[in-house]
Amino acid sequence: MTNKYMYFVANWKMFGGVKSLNSLDKVIKFLRSFKKKNFIKIVYCPPNTLIDLMVKKLKKTKIYVGAQNCHESEKFGAFTGSVNPMMLKNVGARYVIIGHSEIREKGETNKIINLKIHNALKSGLKVIFCIGETSSEKKNKMTKNVLNKQIKFGLDRIRNNKSIIIAYEPVWAIGSGIIPKTNELLETVEFIKKKTKNIKVLYGGSVNPKNIHRLNLIDNLDGYLIGGASQESKKFIDIIKKTYN
Ligand code: PEP
Repeated sequence: MTNKYMYFVANWKMFGGVKSLNSLDKVIKFLRSFKKKNFIKIVYCPPNTLIDLMVKKLKKTKIYVGAQNCHESEKFGAFTGSVNPMMLKNVGARYVIIGHSEIREKGETNKIINLKIHNALKSGLKVIFCIGETSSEKKNKMTKNVLNKQIKFGLDRIRNNKSIIIAYEPVWAIGSGIIPKTNELLETVEFIKKKTKNIKVLYGGSVNPKNIHRLNLIDNLDGYLIGGASQESKKFIDIIKKTYN
C-alpha cells in the first residue's frame, strides 16, 4: 500500500499483434475511474510493429507508449532491421527501454548502451535504463560491483538525469517466478539511488498480482517494470490496484 507516485511499465516483449490492442480497453476504462489515477504513470512498451497504432489508440488517455530497444545511431543509416530513437519519437513513442538483459545477452555492451542513452535523450525520449546481476554474479556476491559498473559506464557523461529511470531487474528473477528477498531488494535499491544521486528506481522481474504485496513493502521503489503479467490486462490492473489499496 502506498500513496506515492508510481510507474507501471508494461514490457510486452515479442508478443502481440494488432488484435492485442483491444486488451487495452480494460486498462483505459479502469484508469478513468481509478481514484488514485493522478498518482500513477502507465507506460506500454509493445513491439515496434504496434507503436504507431498504440499511440493512436491511447491518444486521449494518460497512458504513454515506449519502445523496448533502439539502435545507437542518431541518424538514418544502413542498419538493416534497426530503428533509431528519432524514428521512435517520430511515431509518438515517449520512452525507450535500454539495456534489457535479453539484449545484453546478445552482446550489447555498456559502451553501446551508453551511446543509445545519449542519442535517445538527444531525440527527446525518456530512458528506462535496465541493470541487474546474473544468478552466478549474485552467488559470488558480485551484485554491487556489477551494478556499479553498469551504472558508471552506462550513464557516462549523461547530464540529463531527470529523463532517466532505472529499472533494477535481477536477471535470475526475470520470467522465473522468483523475486528478491525484501531486505536484499531494499538494500540494493538504496545502493542504486546513492550511486545515481537519486534517480527513480523501478523493480522488474516476475512481478505479479500474487507477490506485489511483498514488493510494496519496499518503500524506496518508484514503480515496476512488468513483463509476462502485463500481457493480461486483468493481472496488470490487479498489480496497480493492490499497490494502492
Ligand atoms: C522483463 O523482462 O522486463 C520482465 C520484467 O519480465 P517478467 O515480468 O516476465 O519477469
